[in-house]
Amino acid sequence: MLRTHTCGELTIINAGNKVTLCGWIQRSRDLGGMTFIDLRDRYGITQLAFNMDVNAALCEKARTLGREFVLKASGVVIERSSKNSKMPTGDIEILVEDFEILNKSKLPPFTIEDNTDGGEEQRMKYRYLDLRRNIIKKNLELRHKMAIETRIFLNSKNFIEIETPCLIKSTPEGARDFVVPSRINPGEFYALPQSPQTFKQLLMIAGYDRYYQIVRCFRDEDLRSDRQPEFTQIDCEMSFVTQEDVLNNFEGLAKHLFKNVRGIEAKEFPRISYDDAMKYYGTDKPDIRFEIKFHGLNDIVKGKGFKVFDEAQLIVGICASGCGEYSRKQLDELTDFVKRPQIGASGMVYVKYNNDGTFKSSVDKFFNEEELKKWARAFDAKPGDLILILAGATEKTLKALGELRLEMGNRLGLRDPEIFAPLWVVDFPLLEWDEETKRFYAKHHPFTSPKPEDILLLDTNPAAVRANAYDLVINGVEIGGGSIRIHSKDLQNKMLNILGFSNEEAQKQFGFLMNAFEYGAPPHGGIAFGFDRWCAVFGGSDSIRDYIAFPKNNSGRDVMIDSPASISQQQLDELSIIVKKLF
Ligand code: ASP
Repeated sequence: MLRTHTCGELTIINAGNKVTLCGWIQRSRDLGGMTFIDLRDRYGITQLAFNMDVNAALCEKARTLGREFVLKASGVVIERSSKNSKMPTGDIEILVEDFEILNKSKLPPFTIEDNTDGGEEQRMKYRYLDLRRNIIKKNLELRHKMAIETRIFLNSKNFIEIETPCLIKSTPEGARDFVVPSRINPGEFYALPQSPQTFKQLLMIAGYDRYYQIVRCFRDEDLRSDRQPEFTQIDCEMSFVTQEDVLNNFEGLAKHLFKNVRGIEAKEFPRISYDDAMKYYGTDKPDIRFEIKFHGLNDIVKGKGFKVFDEAQLIVGICASGCGEYSRKQLDELTDFVKRPQIGASGMVYVKYNNDGTFKSSVDKFFNEEELKKWARAFDAKPGDLILILAGATEKTLKALGELRLEMGNRLGLRDPEIFAPLWVVDFPLLEWDEETKRFYAKHHPFTSPKPEDILLLDTNPAAVRANAYDLVINGVEIGGGSIRIHSKDLQNKMLNILGFSNEEAQKQFGFLMNAFEYGAPPHGGIAFGFDRWCAVFGGSDSIRDYIAFPKNNSGRDVMIDSPASISQQQLDELSIIVKKLF
C-alpha cells in the first residue's frame, strides 16, 4: 500500500508514530513560518504541517501545491497546538518530512464543500468531483448500509436473492418500455424490465418460495425530481401467503431498517384503506406526520344561495390550528397557491375563527354567524383557528385540498424530515377507468388479484372491485407497493380481457405466464420498494438524485458521458435500423 493510514483515523494515541498518508488537497493556508494543508480522502481530513524553521525547502515546495492535487505525504504525528474538536483527527497533525505529488489537478470548476458554489448542471457534468463532497459520500454510505441491512434481514427470513434478465419482453406496468434492438433478429427488440414482475412470479411457480433482488428497473416516463429512467427496487415475492403475511413480513423489514439505519424503534404501522386515504387526505400517499384531516361540508353548506357551493359536487375543507390571524396577504398567497394550474382549484373560501369567538369569512354575504358556527363545530375548530374550504368536482377538489394540506403542513413546520410516519394503504381498487380512452387500466398491474369476495363483481361492476394490493408510504412518499397475485390461468385471462386484450392477444403477450399457471402455480404475493426513494427519505431529502452515484438529469441525459448519443451508420446498418431525419 502507498499509505500506512487513512486521513480519518489518526488521533492523539498515534502521537510520535511515523506515518504516510495519501489524499487530495482540500485547502492550504500559508502563515509565513508555517504552511498547513488539509489532506482529504474517503475517511476524513488530516492536517499536514510544514515548518519553515525545520525544512524551508519542503515548506516552499508545499506552497506551490494546488487544490485537489493528489499527494503522498510522510512524517510524524504530533499534537496540535490549536485543536479542532469538531474533527476526529482534530487533536493532531502530521509534521511532514517528505511528500510526493502523485498527480496534479486542474482547478476544480466548483468548491468541494458541503455548501458548494456549483450549480446542478456543473455538478452533474463533473460528477466525479461532486462525489468527493462529504455530503454526497454520506448519502452513498447510507445507501450501502440500506442494501446491507436489507440483505441481512431478508436472508434471515430465508429469502434467496436471484437475478433475473435485463433483456426481456415488454410487460405493461403503466410506463413505456426502453427497448434494445436485436442485431441477430432484425426488426425485433428486447425490452428492458420495468420490474422483474413476471419473472418473480415464475420463480414462485418454480418453487423458490421466498425471493428477493436488489434490482435495476427501467421506465421511459416523464421525469421529476423523484423519478429516474433507471432506478433500483428491492423486489420481493413469497408463496403460500395472505396479504396479512406479506404486510407483517415487510413491516418487519421496514422496522429493521428504521432501527439499524436510523436508530429508530418504529411502532406498529397504521393501516388505512385507499377510500379513507382519499376521503381524509385527498391522496393515496398521505403524509401523516401531521394530523390535519379533511371534513366534508356538503350536508351543511348547500342550499343557502351561494352558487359555488350549490353547484359543486364536493365541498370539503381543513382546519389549520392557530392560523386565525392570517393576514390578507397570507390568505391571498394560499388562494394563488390553489389556483396554480398544477393544483387546479378555481378559488378558496376561508373562515377565520377569531379569538373573541366571532367569525370573519370570505363568504360573509351568504352565511351568517350561526351558520359559520356550525362549520366550526364540524371541524372541531377553536378560536384562533383558520378553516380553508375548496369546492368543485370530487376528484379534482380532493386532490387540490390534498396539496393545500401539505402546503399548510410546510407553513406550520409540521413536515420535519427527521420525523418518520410510515403507514400501509390497503384495499386499492383493482381497476381505474380512463375517460379519454374509455377503458379500464390496472391500478397496480394486470397480475394483481381481486379480493376473492369481489370476484363476482368483475362481471357486473368492475370499477367496484377491490384488490389485495397495498402500498407502504412514509412521510407522504410512496416507498413501495405490491399485491397478492392471480395464480389461475382463467382468472388471469379474464383480467386481461377486462383490460382490453382479446384471448389471442393475451396468449401472445402473456402466454408464457398463463401457461406456467397450469403447472402447479402456488398462491403467491409480494412487494417492491423504490430503493433510491427510500434512501432519500431516510436521508431527509426530496431528491433521489443525490442518492444515486451517476444519475440522469431532468431530460433523461447523463451530461457527464453525454448520453443518449447517436451511433454510427455501421452500427445502425448492423441493427437494421433506419433513423428518421429529424433536422
Ligand atoms: N412489480 C411491481 C412494481 O414494480 C411491484 C409488485 O407488485 O411487487 O410496482
